[in-house]
Amino acid sequence: MPTMGALHDGHASLVRRAVESGKPVVVSIFVNPTQFGPHEDFDKYPRTLDADLAMLEALGVAATYCPAVEDLYPEGLEASRETARNLALPAVATTPLLEDRCRPGHLAGVALVVGRLFDQTRPRFAYFGEKDYQQLRSMEECVAADRARFGDLEIVRCATLRERDGLAMSSRNRYLSTEQRAQSLALSRALQSAHMSFRPADAEQMMRDQLAQSGLEIEYAVVRDATTLLDTTTFNAPTRALIAAKLGSVRLIDNVAFPARDPTRSKCPFAALFGFGTPTG
Ligand code: AMP
Repeated sequence: MPTMGALHDGHASLVRRAVESGKPVVVSIFVNPTQFGPHEDFDKYPRTLDADLAMLEALGVAATYCPAVEDLYPEGLEASRETARNLALPAVATTPLLEDRCRPGHLAGVALVVGRLFDQTRPRFAYFGEKDYQQLRSMEECVAADRARFGDLEIVRCATLRERDGLAMSSRNRYLSTEQRAQSLALSRALQSAHMSFRPADAEQMMRDQLAQSGLEIEYAVVRDATTLLDTTTFNAPTRALIAAKLGSVRLIDNVAFPARDPTRSKCPFAALFGFGTPTG
């Protein structure tokens, strides 16, 4: 299971799931320079190795792998960045204009490092969080597209773990001030309220309004096809609402799944889920 460390209960939920499989679990900790842009928070990214190792030992992992840059990038960082730029990425990593637009090169850096971690550790299963949904979808496609390299490796999707008030757990949450921590709840609330919309466009507008009202700087707040992450005009197939927004210098992302709507049952796409009827207007 690849991680960048600064482990929290969200990471622990993935590790627990892997350990419960009964197979030996390897967790990597590596703050990967090739997935950070030049003006991003690579230097500031939290590093809590001692606490991470203690947590992983208590969770019962078989091994923790903490490679040095040279172990993953023996050709040097500049050459590795060039390799990342030239990777043939799946469409889901290049066309939705989500993370691929806001963090150019990020998903390529992830694909490069995760591919090399897989080459070195040869896992049969790899656990990824839905919290980073475009990353998860990209890795699913990368693995499916290169069976000669990855064999029968399966990507296991793990649900997003949240704080009791709804904020998705993240290593970056520790950088939120008390005021920003309160504002951060706008993400999960906007995603929840988007469930009530009749069309994706209405859901997007509702999310944007809520985020703006709470003072967040929106990078995207969209409803997309859950597989391709491209635009959709209906809720008839599974969709995903996704948000990226900034509070000061802290960038937060979150998303939720909307199951496919059954248009024959109700005008409200998610009435059955919430126990209420057709919306007006
Ligand atoms: P990171 O250390 O941020 O690279 O994350 C390592 C793995 O943990 C990725 O697959 C993330 O999607 C996953 N992850 C991070 N936060 C959460 C969370 N709150 N719930 C579930 N998975 C998470």
